Amino acid sequence: MRHRSEAWRKIDGASFDVCVIGGGATGAGCALDAQLRGLSTVLIEAGDFASATSSRSTKLIHGGVRYLQEAVTDLDPGQYNVVKRALRERRFMLDNARFLAHPMEFLVPCYSRWDVFYYGVGVKIYDRIAGKHNFFPSRYRSSKDSLARWPLLQGDGLKGTIAYADGQFDDARYCVALVQTFTQAGGEAINHARVVRLQQDAGEKICAAEVEDQLTGANSTMQARIFVNATGPYSDHIRAMANPDLEKRLRLSKGVHILLPLDDRTTDAVVVPKTDDGRVIFAIPWLGRLLVGTTDDEVTHEEELVVKRSEAEYLLRQLNRYLSRPFAVEDIVGGFAGVRPLVSSGKPGRTKKLIREHEVEVDRESGLVSVMGGKWTTYRAMAEDAINAVQQQRGLPVGGCVTREHHLSGSDGYSADYPQTLAATYGVPDSTARHLSEKFGTNASAVLDLARQQPELAQPIVAGFPAIQAEIAYSARNEMAATLDDVLERRTGVQFFSWKTAMAAAPIAAAVMQKEMGWDSAHTQREVDDYVHTISEWTQKIGMANTDAKA
Ligand SMILES: Cc1cc2nc3c(=O)[nH]c(=O)nc-3n(C[C@H](O)[C@H](O)[C@H](O)COP(=O)(O)OP(=O)(O)OC[C@H]3O[C@@H](n4cnc5c(N)ncnc54)[C@H](O)[C@@H]3O)c2cc1C
Repeated sequence: MRHRSEAWRKIDGASFDVCVIGGGATGAGCALDAQLRGLSTVLIEAGDFASATSSRSTKLIHGGVRYLQEAVTDLDPGQYNVVKRALRERRFMLDNARFLAHPMEFLVPCYSRWDVFYYGVGVKIYDRIAGKHNFFPSRYRSSKDSLARWPLLQGDGLKGTIAYADGQFDDARYCVALVQTFTQAGGEAINHARVVRLQQDAGEKICAAEVEDQLTGANSTMQARIFVNATGPYSDHIRAMANPDLEKRLRLSKGVHILLPLDDRTTDAVVVPKTDDGRVIFAIPWLGRLLVGTTDDEVTHEEELVVKRSEAEYLLRQLNRYLSRPFAVEDIVGGFAGVRPLVSSGKPGRTKKLIREHEVEVDRESGLVSVMGGKWTTYRAMAEDAINAVQQQRGLPVGGCVTREHHLSGSDGYSADYPQTLAATYGVPDSTARHLSEKFGTNASAVLDLARQQPELAQPIVAGFPAIQAEIAYSARNEMAATLDDVLERRTGVQFFSWKTAMAAAPIAAAVMQKEMGWDSAHTQREVDDYVHTISEWTQKIGMANTDAKA
């Protein structure tokens, strides 16, 4: 990726075949697909890449066992089709970026023989639907075996677990890798740049977008033949900008996750199959933490996207029923909240019942192509459908999608022993080599080359976390990271590890960013103060035990 200021100059006043609005999973996927089909494409993102829903997911590449359960109990072919399509996409997503995604074993605890039978049959159907795309067949694990794999499980009355396969991935980095791959294919991308108005030609078709730089306040207009609206939860805003007569299509559902301390040796996930609201909750090892989520509550855009104490307590209550040692609110080390952009079925009813199918809408008046709904797992298929619609609109032959087997930046030359090779070549600790490999793939060597050239960048960002300062410099130069939040949350993942660690890391990260971005000292201090203030507010909302950034 270009440096952000250079990218802005390239886009300012330029013309493209396609303009994709929104740089989450869907938009990044659309931009890559369009560019690879030979359409000159620009991607415009109002915040950072993946800063909205696409970094707030449960990080599962999955068909969805819950949707399968609903497909069976409600005899719903729509749910079945979503599961089927997602199970096929799961394999492509994993194969295209092996450093960011991997298969994982999920354990469903069973406390009666009926549970063993019921869940066992259910996941066998899941295996069947996945067919040749399955990672490994589901199986029964005895209670002894299950407790050895997940010592925290409540052993009293445990009849064993049903184990099945799904995938886990790093959602924020996957999106950055998509954008990186897109720019390497010749596309232009810019983050922190909001589309504020769409201009129409004499035939009332959209022909240009006015864009406002959210960091400098500068304005620009760029032209494109077709505009793709991939703004997730904000899709109705862009649809209204293009054509105020369009009816709203989205319903928003808030989902929160909390992070808890975890023993490093646990590598499997646990599924909490029975909860008060009928949803499934996952407890998943994630970057050395236990990620627990999620809730599903319909909200509006006015809802503050933070984890509330009542939501954290709800998740803990559901999980603790299955544990031998319960967690308390005071154990929480971090968390995050996001909104699902669900396409309305037009009928009332709870959002958890809405099908996660996506929809591509072409507005015949304005020419806007909107791609809405779906899941992270189906981002590629959504992009394929959206760019097919773009070609149709442009009167071009439809087809030529190559993203099923297009490896993402950082994949070439990657293998399971890459972290060891990296540690040996650069003489860095295994934990740092593993962390860099899992974030950057084979681009990790470029990060460590930077640290060789500037040895001060070889230092950790903060004690107790394997990331090094060179990652910050690399992300600012090559991945368009432009704020403290960009580097601490989505590029290095420090914020996902612990809020307290992230607050402690803020001044160190800011000092690196100051040099890279040319910030003056007042700006640098403001970044630190704002960042620490926001996170300490989150800790207070939950009522975390110790909010001292230095602790
Ligand atoms: C709690 C939760 C858990 C989930 N778990 C999973 C999971 O485990 N697996 C899975 O497959 N899916 C999961 N999902 C679903 C998945 O995360 C979403 O379907 C996906 O991230 C949506 O991506 P998107 O690009 O459509 O939207 P977003 O990621 O929200 O991206 C839209 C982007 O548009 C930008 N934008 C808005 N307005 C403008 C404008 N005017 N100009 C420029 N840019 C603009 C926004 O800044 C935003 O970045 C989960 C969702 C939630 C909320």
